Amino acid sequence: MNKIAIYPGTFDPITYGHVDIIQRAAAIFDRVIVAVATNSQKRPLFTVAERMDMIRHVVGDIPHLEIDQIEGLLVDYAVERGAHAVIRGLRAVSDFEFELQMALVNRKLNEKLITVFLMPHEKYSYLNSSIVKELAQFGGNIECFVPKYVQEKIKEKMRNHERH
Ligand code: ADP
Repeated sequence: MNKIAIYPGTFDPITYGHVDIIQRAAAIFDRVIVAVATNSQKRPLFTVAERMDMIRHVVGDIPHLEIDQIEGLLVDYAVERGAHAVIRGLRAVSDFEFELQMALVNRKLNEKLITVFLMPHEKYSYLNSSIVKELAQFGGNIECFVPKYVQEKIKEKMRNHERH
């Protein structure tokens, strides 16, 4: 049976931490769907199309990987896509409480859907998209956090923001 996993998130933008998790997930599941949240409460810097484009550029060559967008409830999307698991990254203890709550709520809504937590390489354990954006805003070097293509897109975005 084809085991399908969904890796949901805001990906604003994708970082090496996300890439690490995607590679690990791809090594265990037959198909991994990276699902970009359209209704994120985080007021993303990038549009959904831009976030999907960056993901495609960075991990598009991984076999059996799909990039999609997700609007409603994760459990509904999982049923619609015939997925067995939800992938989440666990960086530090600070992630745990929120992730546990989400995993348990999702299990309550659909007990067949299994949340799988993956730990990134420790060099990415302090990394998130917000810190990358903050650094970039003040001209910090972000090359060890995001791939070249993403670096360029961030710079472009910052330049456009300055202009408006
Ligand atoms: P969300 O809005 O769901 O927090 P993110 O794009 O920030 O979306 O993260 C999506 C998933 O990727 C979450 O499970 C998060 O823990 C994980 N993640 C983000 N950054 C890293 C990282 N540096 N290492 C491992 N997992 C990460």
